[in-house]
Amino acid sequence: MRTAFRLVTNIVLAALVAACSQSQAPESAPPPEPLVGLVEGLASGAVDVIDLTQPLNAKTPIIQLPPPLANTPGYTPHLISNFDDDGPAWYWNWMEIGEHVGTHFDAPCHWISGRDLPCVDVLDADQFIGPAVVIDVTGEVAENADFVATRKTIESWEVEHGRIPDGAWVILRTGWGSRASDGEAFFNPDDTGMPHYPGFGLESATFLTTERDILGVGTEAVGSDAAVGATADPAFPNHFTMHGAGKYGLTQLANVDQLPVTGAVVIATPLKIDRGSGSPVRVIALVPAS
Ligand code: MN
Repeated sequence: MRTAFRLVTNIVLAALVAACSQSQAPESAPPPEPLVGLVEGLASGAVDVIDLTQPLNAKTPIIQLPPPLANTPGYTPHLISNFDDDGPAWYWNWMEIGEHVGTHFDAPCHWISGRDLPCVDVLDADQFIGPAVVIDVTGEVAENADFVATRKTIESWEVEHGRIPDGAWVILRTGWGSRASDGEAFFNPDDTGMPHYPGFGLESATFLTTERDILGVGTEAVGSDAAVGATADPAFPNHFTMHGAGKYGLTQLANVDQLPVTGAVVIATPLKIDRGSGSPVRVIALVPAS
């Protein structure tokens, strides 16, 4: 008798629980512990997201190599349909673009020194995200557009801000991003047509690839090397050294002036292009709100 009563009670309770759970959506599951701060920070505004990407359009400046070297096409959109007979309910384009156009990612296989190293398609996705350190050389660049980062540039930064962490993106803040919509100002050519813009060089690249363990470097100019790297030995020494060591490059970054010196996390995910030597990329940074 008592057993039968208990059974009926349990059935009634189970029915009540079922009824309640049907009428009321369950609470959202909290994010797992390592990500809870990020999710809550994004929702509350304690974490800001900075877009480090330049606009991609027909005017986006592209690197200009002298003859007889081949150059890349820039970005050209081609309309497929725009709510018309070719597609009454949809708008879409196809595009013509080089791998190294606008804000983009340089993979190790881009350079002769890294020709047997990974292209974008085989990189592990955990290689696209890391802490950012921002080395501000806007003062030096204002004095000298041909500024090249050296070992001393990096070491002086570390004296003030601490050792560059493993897995870091090392970003050179030059102010050059403000010129990105004006090709003339961006390449800054002299009377002979030689461009002048700042970047990394042999010394900085050698130090960062042998004495630190970074993901790669980022710049605001058209390439990760300074313009004078074109006539250096080896040519484009930052490319030669970084990619030969399996490291990456990010170029034509925007809004670098909005990054803290340390404390940002940069995410740069290239397209998974088969044997891609690089890829246009939407680079973002997660930063503590100031
Ligand atoms: Mn490139």
